[in-house]
Amino acid sequence: MRADPSDYELVAPGSLATVVSLLGQSPGEWLPIAGGTDLMVVYAAGRLSVRKLVSLWNLPELRRIEAGADDVRIGAASTYTDLQQNEIVQNEFPLLVATARCTGGIANQNRGTLGGNIVNASPAADSLPALLVYDAALILISARGERRVAYNDFHTGYKKTLLAQDELVREIVLSRRYSRYSSYFRKVGARNAQAIAKVCVAALARLDAGIVSDIRLAAGSVAPIPLRLKLTEEVVGGKTIDKALIEQARQAAINEIRPIDDVRSTSRYRSAVLGNLVVEFLEKLAGEKSARLAHWNRLPAKDAAHEVLDCCGSGMWARLLASRRPFADEASLIAASDEIWNALQPPDWKEAFAKHPRIGEKNAPASASPQSAAWSSQEQKRSQSPDSQVRAELAEANREYEARFGRIFIVFATGKSATEMLEILRDRMQNDEESELRVSVEEQRKITNLRLRKWLDK
Ligand SMILES: Cc1cc2nc3c(=O)[nH]c(=O)nc-3n(C[C@H](O)[C@H](O)[C@H](O)COP(=O)(O)OP(=O)(O)OC[C@H]3O[C@@H](n4cnc5c(N)ncnc54)[C@H](O)[C@@H]3O)c2cc1C
Repeated sequence: MRADPSDYELVAPGSLATVVSLLGQSPGEWLPIAGGTDLMVVYAAGRLSVRKLVSLWNLPELRRIEAGADDVRIGAASTYTDLQQNEIVQNEFPLLVATARCTGGIANQNRGTLGGNIVNASPAADSLPALLVYDAALILISARGERRVAYNDFHTGYKKTLLAQDELVREIVLSRRYSRYSSYFRKVGARNAQAIAKVCVAALARLDAGIVSDIRLAAGSVAPIPLRLKLTEEVVGGKTIDKALIEQARQAAINEIRPIDDVRSTSRYRSAVLGNLVVEFLEKLAGEKSARLAHWNRLPAKDAAHEVLDCCGSGMWARLLASRRPFADEASLIAASDEIWNALQPPDWKEAFAKHPRIGEKNAPASASPQSAAWSSQEQKRSQSPDSQVRAELAEANREYEARFGRIFIVFATGKSATEMLEILRDRMQNDEESELRVSVEEQRKITNLRLRKWLDK
């Protein structure tokens, strides 16, 4: 050890207010120490220039993990072991658990803290890309008061941050809105454990009806600061994942990083690995859908038919679709569904129509499954007009339609307002029975396809 302990002073006041006041007295004189897993390495190397250390280890305020309605607040001195053992973190922030598990060994996880990882600000730190994709915010505290900063803005350059010398990170705030996203974390190092990352990637994404409706990607060890891959997100967002898109994403990710050559790796290797990790995530995302299809392909026929009834309420359609298994992919499933649906008889079509709520009404019929009712309500979101006159006109038009055709009005409602649907309904009142039935069949086909895609994404 190159440092002499007698040159240093360590205090542990045990109260947040006292620590904050000490840091405020002559900023820069005292340095906070939490788990010490970074600081002790610098100390042992004889490079710790600040001689006065104030401990955060015994401050219960910095060790709490609290869940609110919209976000979860993690005390900055929570250790990697705390994170792994917390039920909310386990259920809603799997990326934090994954990063905590591969941060050093068990001893390091018992001592090292999330706040320490953030303030140490290594571009190779494992939990930082995860905080970027979770859109974390930091609550900073000093004798001057508290402020909230977006974690995205916290790192201003290599090992530089927005933290003032008299400030502490008090909490890390994570929004709960990403809890149902598909997630991915991978660290590539010399070994699986006890190694600093050559490259690491954290990612979140959501698929809606086969389309990547939101994607968040971040990487470590590829730039002077942990980096959000925004250009790559733009390439992938709003699209269906296929081979061409995956290759475009690989290239976009490689183009937006600035890796260096150092003792652990070369810039070329880091670029190649990052591209591979982005590809791996997108393939996994696309594969989750195939896994669902593969599972459905193996179910007994009766169960398989029952499962797809949420997508279209015709028992005959569901049985025939189940009898055509196995399907290789979404496209072949949808093609078979179209073919079966178009060839059915009017009683089968009408059975499916009867499972929908009336346009403009919230309640689905009792015969609709809970999932079908929930999808109807999403599909009709824009049709719940706040205008009571439009609502009354729609209710009257529905009555006239039912009196004329003897069934409820079926329309592909997604994205349509109440006024638009009223216009469509009035227009279709001009149809004769035969052509109106055909139009309804086509509208139900579109609804079924959308729901089949949602069902595969579930
Ligand atoms: C053997 C070993 C293996 C490791 N493996 C990994 C790994 O795999 N991945 C990885 O990312 N890291 C790794 N690390 C680094 C380290 O464990 C982490 O960065 C850890 O999170 C640091 O937390 P700490 O509480 O120990 O920080 P400390 O060493 O106590 O402090 C680090 C810095 O943060 C400041 N600080 C701490 N808490 C606060 C706060 N609340 N507010 C303001 N400033 C604060 C301190 O002043 C100091 O500047 C490893 C370290 C060791 C020794």
